Amino acid sequence: MEGKSQKIRTRFPPSPTGWLHVGNARTALFNYLFSRHANGALVLRIEDTDKERSRKEFEDDIIEQLSWLGLTWDELYRQSERLEIHTAYLRRLLESGKAFYCAHTKEELETEYKRQVGEKATPRHVCDQRDKGGKEGIIRLRNDAKTPLLFSDLIRGDITFNPELLGDISIARGLESPLYNFVVVVDDAEMRITHVIRGEDHIPNTPKQMLIQQALDFVAPAYAHLPLLLGADRSKLSKRHGGTAVRDYHAVGYLPEAVVNFLALLGWNPGTDRELFMLEELVKEFSLEKVQKAGAVFNEEKLAWINRAYMRSLSPEQLASKLAPFLEQAGKSGMPSDVVKRMARVEASRLSRLKDIEQNLAIYTEAPAYNINLLSWKGTQDIAEIKTHLAEVRKLLRDIMEGEFVLEILEKILMPYAAAHSKGNVLWPLRVALSGREASPGPFEIMYVIGKEETLKRIDNALQI
Ligand code: GLU
Repeated sequence: MEGKSQKIRTRFPPSPTGWLHVGNARTALFNYLFSRHANGALVLRIEDTDKERSRKEFEDDIIEQLSWLGLTWDELYRQSERLEIHTAYLRRLLESGKAFYCAHTKEELETEYKRQVGEKATPRHVCDQRDKGGKEGIIRLRNDAKTPLLFSDLIRGDITFNPELLGDISIARGLESPLYNFVVVVDDAEMRITHVIRGEDHIPNTPKQMLIQQALDFVAPAYAHLPLLLGADRSKLSKRHGGTAVRDYHAVGYLPEAVVNFLALLGWNPGTDRELFMLEELVKEFSLEKVQKAGAVFNEEKLAWINRAYMRSLSPEQLASKLAPFLEQAGKSGMPSDVVKRMARVEASRLSRLKDIEQNLAIYTEAPAYNINLLSWKGTQDIAEIKTHLAEVRKLLRDIMEGEFVLEILEKILMPYAAAHSKGNVLWPLRVALSGREASPGPFEIMYVIGKEETLKRIDNALQI
C-alpha cells in the first residue's frame, strides 16, 4: 500500500426497524461528507438480518428520506441477500476451530448472566465446552486474547479494551442466522470499507469486531465515533424529546437544505462563526478533525432559525411551489397561482415551516366572520367613527388601479390618511374587516394578497354590519 493512496470508502448501514431517525441521518450525512470530500465512495447497506423487526416500509423510508435530503450513494446492498457469503465465513471459522457451537442452553446462559450481574461482574460467557464438537446452539468466537485491544479513534483518540471482559463472542444463532457483529465485520471487509463512521453508542461493539477481524485475517478499518445527540435537557435524544424521525420534519415542511445544514452542525463546526452551509459547501469544508467529542444538543429552535433563513432566500415563485403540497393538504389546491405567489411573498418572513401556512391560510381564502365589537380599536371607537374611516379608505382604494394594487403603493396612498387620524384608529378596523382576527398579518399585506376586488368586498361587508 505504501506510496499509493487507497480510495476512501465509507458506509451507512441502517437497520430497517423503524423510521429513519435524525441521529442516523446525521451519521449518513457525515459519511457522505467525508467520502465526497475525498472523492471516495459511499455504500448504503440495509442491515435487515433481524427478520422479525425489519420491514420493507422502513427500508423505503430510509431511501426516501436520504433522497429527500439530497444524499446519494454509490452502491446498495441488503444483508439478507448476502447470507451465502456470511455462512461461508462462519464455516471457515468453525472448520479452523476459531469458532465453535456453544452447548449451553438458554436457561444456563441466563442463570450465568443473572449471577454475574448480581455479583456486579461484567456479563460474559467463557465457554468450558468449546471442544465438544456439537452442531447446535449459538456459534461463538473462541476468545483467548489477553493483551489489551487498542484502536485509535479519529475523533476520540486511543481507546483500549481488556479482551478478557468480552468472553467468547456470539457470532451467529446458527449457520443461517449470523449476528450483527459478525455480519458487519464480514461486510465491511468484503465491501473494502476504509472508514467506519458511526455513533458513539457503537464503541462497545468495536473490540468484539476487532477480534472477529483478527480471526478472519482482515485489516481493520479506521474508526470514528460521532458524539451522541442530546435533547435540550442534555440527556440522550429520544422520543421523549418530540420528533426523532426524519419523516416528521419532512412532513411539517422543513426544507431539506435546512435539515442538512442543521444536522451537519450537530457535532461538526467549521471553526468560524458561519452557520449557513449548503450541501456542496459542507462537502468542501468537512473534516473529521473538526468533529467534537462532547455530545451535541439537538436544538429545534436552531433548526427553525436555519429553516427561516433558507425560506427567506427563496423567490416568491420558489416558495409558492414548495407551499403547493401543503395547500393541497389543507384542501386549498384551487387557489389561483398569482394569489399563492403574493401570499408567499408576504408570508416568507413569518413562516418557520411550510406547514405553518395553515394558520393564516383562511385569511386569504375565506371571507371573515367576526363580532362587530372587534372592529373597534381598543374597544373605544364608536360605530360612526369606524364607518367613516372604512368608507374613506374604501374611496382611496377604489381609485387605485388593479395592476397597482401592490404593497408599496397601498401604503403610499393610505398612510397619509391613517397618520392624520392616528394610525390605530384607521388601520385596526381595516385589518379586522379584512381578517376577522384579533391578530393577523397587517392590512396592507392582506390587501395585496387578496387583491382589489376581494378587498372592497370585505370592506363593504364590514360597512354593512
Ligand atoms: N445497523 C447498525 C445500526 O443501525 C449499524 C451499526 C454500525 O455502523 O456498525 O446501528
